[in-house]
Amino acid sequence: MAKFNQNIWTLFYIILFLSFLVLGNLAFFTFSQTKSSFKNEQEVLVETVAENINNILLQYESIFDIVNQNIYEKNLLKNEKKLQKYFDTILHLNTNLAGFGVFDKNGNILAASKNVKKEKLPNMLKNKYTKDDFLKALQNDTMVIGRTYFVKAVGSVVIPIRKAFKDQNGNVLFVTTAGLKVQPDSTIFKSKIRFSEIVIIRDHDRYIQFKDFSIDTYKKQIPKDIMTKFEESIKVACGITKKQLNDNKTTNTLVFKYFDNKRELVSFAYLKRYNLWILAKTDCNVIYKAFAEKFSIFIVLYIVVWGIIYYLFKVIDRSNETQKKVLKDQAVHDYLTGLYNRYYLTDMFNNSSNFLYKDYTLFFIDLDNFKSINDNFGHVIGDKLLKEVSKRLQDISKEKPQRKVIRYSGDEFLFIFEYLNDKDIAYYAEKITSQLSKQYTISDISFLITCSMGISKFPDDGDSFDEVKINADIAMYHSKKFKNTWTIFNPKQKQKYIQNIQIEQELKKAIENDELYMVYQPQVNSFGDIVGVEALVRWENKKLGFVPPDKFINVAENSALIYDIGDFIVDRTLKDICEIFDKTKKSFRVSVNVSAKQFLKDDFEETLVKKILDSNIKNSHICIEITESLFVSDKEKVIKILNNLKESFITVSMDDFGTGYSSLSMLKDLPVDEVKIDKSFVDDITVDENDKKLVQSIIYISNILGKTILAEGVETKEQKDLLDTLGCELYQGYYFYKPLKKEELVEVLKG
Ligand code: C2E
Ligand code: CA
Ligand code: CA
Repeated sequence: MAKFNQNIWTLFYIILFLSFLVLGNLAFFTFSQTKSSFKNEQEVLVETVAENINNILLQYESIFDIVNQNIYEKNLLKNEKKLQKYFDTILHLNTNLAGFGVFDKNGNILAASKNVKKEKLPNMLKNKYTKDDFLKALQNDTMVIGRTYFVKAVGSVVIPIRKAFKDQNGNVLFVTTAGLKVQPDSTIFKSKIRFSEIVIIRDHDRYIQFKDFSIDTYKKQIPKDIMTKFEESIKVACGITKKQLNDNKTTNTLVFKYFDNKRELVSFAYLKRYNLWILAKTDCNVIYKAFAEKFSIFIVLYIVVWGIIYYLFKVIDRSNETQKKVLKDQAVHDYLTGLYNRYYLTDMFNNSSNFLYKDYTLFFIDLDNFKSINDNFGHVIGDKLLKEVSKRLQDISKEKPQRKVIRYSGDEFLFIFEYLNDKDIAYYAEKITSQLSKQYTISDISFLITCSMGISKFPDDGDSFDEVKINADIAMYHSKKFKNTWTIFNPKQKQKYIQNIQIEQELKKAIENDELYMVYQPQVNSFGDIVGVEALVRWENKKLGFVPPDKFINVAENSALIYDIGDFIVDRTLKDICEIFDKTKKSFRVSVNVSAKQFLKDDFEETLVKKILDSNIKNSHICIEITESLFVSDKEKVIKILNNLKESFITVSMDDFGTGYSSLSMLKDLPVDEVKIDKSFVDDITVDENDKKLVQSIIYISNILGKTILAEGVETKEQKDLLDTLGCELYQGYYFYKPLKKEELVEVLKG
C-alpha cells in the first residue's frame, strides 16, 4: 500500500513535470507568435510610413520644380507681393506646410508667404541649424531636407525642404524653401501609430528628423557609436548592410536597446534618396505585456486544472490512507470482541513510541473451564460469553485510557496497567475477579464463570515484554491449580515451571525408553490380610533420577502425555497382576489411579473394559481411584460413566476424600463403592480431636451410604487401632506395607 501511495505521488510529479514542459512550450510558442505579430504589423507600418514620406517628399520636390519654373519664367522675384500671394496659395493648398519662401544664394530671404515674419528669419548661412543643409542645397540638384528646428518666423518646429534653381551654367539663382509642419495635427508626421513610436533619423549627421513635437528633441545628435551599433546589429540580426538597404523596399526588424536605453523591437526602412532612417519602435515591455495577457488565460486554466488534479490525487491519497488505517486497525483488533489482539503487541513494540508506559503491570487472565462451555453450549454461546467478558474487562480499562486490554488467544486476555504497587494489584485483581464472576445471561441461559490470573511487572519481573508476559503466564498457571484466584509472579514459580518443562521433555521419551514401571502397595483388612493393592507408577530417568509421581503426573495431565501414560499404567498393571495371580495362585482387587483428564477422554470406559477383557482378569478385581476434582467439570457426565463402570462390576474408589470440594452430603449422589480417607487426616488423627471427629463423620456417613472405608497413609499401630474403633474397614500405609515391586509382592503373597 505504501508503495502504491508513493506511486501515485510519483505519477503526480511526472504529470506535473510533463505539464510544465507543455506549458513551457506553449509559452515559447505564444511568445513567438505575439512577437511575430508585432513584428509583422510594425514592418507593414514602417513600410507604409516610409513610402508615404518618400512620396510626399517627391511630391514636394515636383511642387518645388513647378514653383521654381514659375518664379523664373514669370520673373516673380521682381514682384514680391505677387510672389507672396503665390506662396500663400500654395500654402493654402498644402496644409502640411508651415511656410513657403525663397532665398538668394547668400541665404537672405527674398520673399515669403504672409504668415512668415521675415524679420525674424536669420540668414540661412549664418544659422547653425540651417547652414550645412543650405550649402548642400546650393550644391545639389535635388531637393535637400534640412535639420528639424524651431523656426521663430513661423512659430513652430518645422522640417525645412529646399531646392535651388540654377541657370544653364549651374549658377544658383535662388533657393525655394518650405517648412513641413512638425505639429500634432500633421497628417504626415505621427509620433505614435498604434503601439509603435515613429522616428526618422538623418543618416549623415545623426540628427533626428522627426520623433515628437518637442523642440529639444532636435537639438542633439544621436551619438555615433549608437548608430554604428545599430548598423552592426542589422548586419548580425538581418544579414544586410546599409548599402543593401534599397530605398523603402527593404524592411526588417530587430531588438535593439541603445536608442532609449531599453529593449525595443525596432522595424526600419531606409530612404536612400533623402538618407533617412525610418524607424518604428515598440517597447519590448509592451510585447511582454501583450504576451502576459494572452498567456494569463493559459496560466489560469493551468492552475485551475492542476487544482482539480491535485485535489483528485489528494482524495485518492486520503482514501488510501484511510484504507491503510482501517486495515491496520483491523489487523490489530480482534474481530470477535473488538479488543486489541496479539498483533497489536508486536506493532506496539516494533514502534516503541506507541508504548504507553515506561513501567507497567501485566495481568494474564485465563477463563476457568471455558472449554466446557464451548463444548456443551456450542461456539455461538461461547463467543457471546467472550464478548461479555471482554466488555467487562474493557469497562475496567476505561478508568484510565492508557490501560489496554488484549485478547491474547481463545480465552486468554492480557490487561496492561500502569506500574501498580501490591495493594493496587490486589485491588484490581479482586475487581476483575468479582466482575468476571458475576452472572452472565446469554440466550436465556445463565452462566457463572471464573478466571485464573497471573500478574507480573516491568521491569521487576523481566527486561522485555515477552519475559514479563511469560512470567505472568507462569503465575497464571499457578493460579490454575486452584482456579478463580490470582497470583503475583515470584521467581520460585519460574523454577518450578522450568523444572516442569524439563520433566515434560524427558517424560515424552519415558515409555519409549522403558523408564516407567509399576509398584503395588498392599491394602489390608483389620486383621492385616491383603485384600487388594494400589498400583502406583514409578519413573527413573537418566537425567532427572527418580521423579515422584505427584511431580510428573501433574505435568502429564497438563499436556496430552497423560493419555499414553494412562494407557501404559493400565496395560502394565493388568499384565503385572495377571503374572502375580498366575505365580501366587491368589487373586485380589487392584486399584488403579485414573487422572481426571484420562477419565474424561471419550473412549476411556470402552477401552478400559476391553483391556480388562483381554487380560483375563475379572472386572470385579479392578477398582479405579478417582479424585473429587473430576466432578468439577461435568458432574452429570462423570456420574453416567461411573454408573456404566459399576454395571460392568468395576469398582470405584474416591481417593483423597475430604481434601477437595465435595462435601459429605454430596457423597450420596456419587456412584462410588469406596471412600479413601486422605493421609492428611490420618496423620494427626491420634492427636487432633478435629481430625478424629472428621474421620468419624466420614466413616459414619459412608457406612450409612453403604460405602467401604479405606484409610490411607497409616503409619502407626495407634492410628490403625483408633481407626479400627472408629469403624474403618480397610487400611493402606507404611505400617503394613510400602509400595512393592512386582517380584517383592509375589514374595510377600507367597509368604
Ligand atoms: P495417592 O493416589 O493418594 O497415592 C498414595 C500415595 O501415598 C502414594 O505415593 C503412596 O506411596 C503414599 N503412601 C501410602 N502409604 C503411605 C504412608 O503410610 N506414609 C506415606 N508417607 N506415604 C504413603 P506415591 O506413589 O508417591 O503417589 C503419589 C500420588 O501420585 C498418588 O497419590 C497419586 O495421586 C499419584 N499417582 C501415583 N501413581 C499413579 C498412577 O499410576 N496413576 C495416577 N493417575 N496417579 C498416580
Ligand atoms: Ca490413589
Ligand atoms: Ca490418596
